Order: sequence, then C-alpha cells, then structure tokens
Amino acid sequence: MNNQRYLNDLKNCQLCPWKCGVNRLAGEGGVCRVGLPEVAYTGLTQVLKTFAVTLLGCSFRCIYCNAYRISQYPDSGWMYRGYVQPDVLVHEALSVFKTNFAQKMGVEKLSFTGGEPAIHTPYLEEVVAQMREQLPDLEVGLATNGFCTPQTMKRLVKLSSYLNFEIKAFDPELHYAVTGAPIEPILENAKFIASENPEKIRVFRTVVIPGVNDLEVPKIANFLQDIDPDLPYRLVGFRPHFLLYYHPGPSRNLMHKLVEECKEAGLKNVDYSGYSPDGTLITGYSFNNRLKNTYNFLNQAGCYRRPRNCGSCPENQYCPAIIMEPWTNLP
Ligand code: SF4
Ligand code: SF4
Repeated sequence: MNNQRYLNDLKNCQLCPWKCGVNRLAGEGGVCRVGLPEVAYTGLTQVLKTFAVTLLGCSFRCIYCNAYRISQYPDSGWMYRGYVQPDVLVHEALSVFKTNFAQKMGVEKLSFTGGEPAIHTPYLEEVVAQMREQLPDLEVGLATNGFCTPQTMKRLVKLSSYLNFEIKAFDPELHYAVTGAPIEPILENAKFIASENPEKIRVFRTVVIPGVNDLEVPKIANFLQDIDPDLPYRLVGFRPHFLLYYHPGPSRNLMHKLVEECKEAGLKNVDYSGYSPDGTLITGYSFNNRLKNTYNFLNQAGCYRRPRNCGSCPENQYCPAIIMEPWTNLP
C-alpha cells in the first residue's frame, strides 16, 4: 500500500464514543471489529444521482438491521470487496461519472453509506479530498447513525454536503436495547448539526418498528421541533430483518397516526415511506412492554445482557447475537 498516513487515526482509534483506543491497523478489534476501511460494493443510485460507496462495519448492533451482513461484517460470514486504495476508488468514480449511462442518469455526486461511514472518517476525507482536486464543486452525501465524537462529527460535516441522520429511539434504555449503544452522543450531534449547519441536513429519519420503537417517534419529533420546527423528518416502515426477521412491519394506519402525532408535536415537515399491507397497529400496550419485547428478541438470539451495552460487554468480540445463514449449520 502506498502512503497510508491518512490512516494514522486508526492506530489509536477514538473516532466514536466507544473510544476503544485500539490499533486497527495492527488487527486489534474495537467494538466495531473493523480494521482497515473496507468497501462492500459501489454502485449508481438513480434517485439520489450519486456514485454510492457502501462501507463495511458498524459501531452498533441494531436488532432490525436491514444490512446486517454488511454492518456485522466479518461476523456475518459474508465476503465483500475489501480495502480499496483511495486513488483507485477515485479513479473508478471519475470513470463512472464519464459513462453515457451515468450522464443519462444525471449522476454527479458521491455518497457514502454502510454499515456506518463515520468509523471510516479518515478514509472518507482522503477520498473526498482527491475527488475534489478533480471536481472542486463535487457534492458529497452521507448516511449516518450519528454515533461519533463531536470532533468526528465536525470532520463529517466539513467533508459532506448533506447528511441523512437516523435516530433509532429516544429513551436511553430502549436505545441501548435496540442498538447496544447510548443515545446521548447522537442527540448532541443532532443538535449540533441542526443548530449550526441546518443546510447540511437532508433528512432525519427513524425506522418504525411496531411494538418496539413506535412510541419513540413523537418523542423524537418533539426533540427536533425544539431545535427547529422546519427540520425534515421521515418515518420509514420497518421491513423484517436480522433479529426481527419474524416480526411484522407497520400498518399504513400506524404510519399515518405517527405522522399526525409528529405534526401535533409542532414539527411541520414530516412524511413517511413504506408500510406493510399485512402490518400491525399496536395500541394499548405500554413502553415497558416494548422494552420487554425488545429484550425477548435479544434473548432469543443469544444476548442476555441487561442492560444491554455492547461497549462494555465482554462478548463484544464474539457476539452470540448474530444470525448465521441456515445452510452453514448443515452437516
Ligand atoms: S468502535 Fe469506534 S472507537 Fe472503537 S475501533 Fe470502532 S470506530 Fe474506533
Ligand atoms: S452479547 Fe454483548 S456484544 Fe452481543 S449484542 Fe449483547 S451486549 Fe452486544
């Protein structure tokens, strides 16, 4: 590998609030268990008109992750592309921009998703800097869980043109149960961006899981409207995945009801996408039931920590709560 100086941060990694202090370049595993920044795949997205780079690994272990093979890599047992030197990725992106296909689609931006791109911040900076040497006005988008230190968040805001920022729950205990991580750093980062750089917010979003985090949505709306009632908030209907593979999605009625509740909280720009025609609208069912429900899913998958905290969990390097493909159990 050529000049890897941009990876120096990874020798004592403090990029997110877990502050593992491990040397990722020497193969030491932090909570994310990620060493070098690795690319799952790249591709064109017509809707966002971007060359999208999907990165492997995450600082969370969300029970509903719809990309768990990517976020929980390498534990998930799937193989992907791997480390791609920044200059190679930049050359690829620039070549793709010039193709007739990309030009017809109007692709002219770069975007990063995952997994969680924030755990690869130095790599993003290097790729974006090299791209902007060729295309100074290049727009860069980022989809994040917002779980990074304030210093990392400032770096992400600086390199990006817009962010999709997901808030998965509001109550601290439920957030731990759903993601394995604390909510406080995320709310601080959300407040920082929404107050200091609102032009960089493309959208705040929450995946709505009936019977798990649906009661959290109006609380998040309330938090956002306290900062600015015009902030955009999108609710995304949960689709069964990972530890919640056999859990129903939300009904249309539930999504409508939640949009209305967010508007009643004072947030003006709220909408939703996706619901399940066979979905469910759970009513008359308490917050504590939802917490219990969430821990039941974790227990079934092999996580018995309560309160759940993946950062301090002694099993975080070989977490049992990972769904392996059924055929890997065949004799
Ligand atoms: S979990 Fe966060 S601090 Fe720990 S190694 Fe990964 S990115 Fe670094
Ligand atoms: S076993 Fe530990 S690392 Fe795995 S999900 Fe539970 S708390 Fe997190």
